[in-house]
Amino acid sequence: MNQKMKAAVITEVNKVELLDVKKPTPGEGEILVNIKACALCTWEQRTFSGVLKMPLPFLGGHEMSGVIEEVGEGINLEQYPIGQKVSLRTLYSCGSCYYCRQGKENMCIEAGKPVVDKHKEIWGPGGLGEYLVVTPKEIFKLPNDLPFEYGALTEPLACVVNSVEQGKVELGEDVVVIGAGIMGLLHVMVCKLRGARVILSEPSVERRKIAEELGADATFDPTKEDLVEKVKSLTEGKGANVVFNTTPIAAVAQQAINAVGKLGRVVMYSSIHPDKPIEVSPQWLHSKQVEITGAVSPTIKSFQTSSILLSKRLIVPEKLITAKYPIEEAQAAFELAVKPDSYRVIVTQK
Ligand SMILES: [Zn+2]
Ligand SMILES: [Zn+2]
Repeated sequence: MNQKMKAAVITEVNKVELLDVKKPTPGEGEILVNIKACALCTWEQRTFSGVLKMPLPFLGGHEMSGVIEEVGEGINLEQYPIGQKVSLRTLYSCGSCYYCRQGKENMCIEAGKPVVDKHKEIWGPGGLGEYLVVTPKEIFKLPNDLPFEYGALTEPLACVVNSVEQGKVELGEDVVVIGAGIMGLLHVMVCKLRGARVILSEPSVERRKIAEELGADATFDPTKEDLVEKVKSLTEGKGANVVFNTTPIAAVAQQAINAVGKLGRVVMYSSIHPDKPIEVSPQWLHSKQVEITGAVSPTIKSFQTSSILLSKRLIVPEKLITAKYPIEEAQAAFELAVKPDSYRVIVTQK
């Protein structure tokens, strides 16, 4: 029997079509999840707009939540009951390389490998389809009263949890977050939870306002005030304890380094386009004991922490959701998602 399901598929640049594709059936040790909400992340947006050349057709969607619909043989129904609300970590990691065994699945030697799945008719992570077959290791349970759209943000929040851990933010420290896109705002929220004073640099007055509503203690416009001078003036000349750069701009990465103080940490959260070398004085690193690092993708542990933060409502991402569209209007959802002033746009399914 060949059952069908709906899927919002990118068929050409700037075009999403609702297609009938093969509905997967869970095999032994597998679980069928009915997807209810899927956020449109940069990967999907760039594939849609053609900036990223992915083979088309592409069934995107890697930030999603849903409910368990059916389980295959060998799955314990008490642990994975039908109707259980879940979010899914579908990024590939092998589980057996050196990095996976260190608990750093984001560094897996096969990370970034295209998601190939025997159940899929069209390639891609698949959150923009009605159903997805996964194994228990991809499943993170959510409480049944948590809105699906919050659950869909487990993945981006998990990336930020990993980043804040790289920054080793401590109670009372001065943290500078550069940029108030969705990732910058999530940094503001998580650093506030960690007990930091958060200073935000962002040119847009609307975005600065949202950051303040989410807890930023001080905000400023880096096109009007010099970032490094401003941070020094707010920290008695010391510079920041931690700086997170959430912008893709190499010149800003340089400012991030210049704004940190003795014993400070700088985290390059965003990927940098175009990637240009910046200057770092080895003597300054030596004498100030500064750490410069990066953060990419979530580990399994940070994914779990993220699902707990959302489940316990310690992070409430309401303000980060620009709009919700039913899957039938996926084209409109993508068109809004690629606009630079959008936060997350969510595609929902009944
Ligand atoms: Zn994402
Ligand atoms: Zn691995």
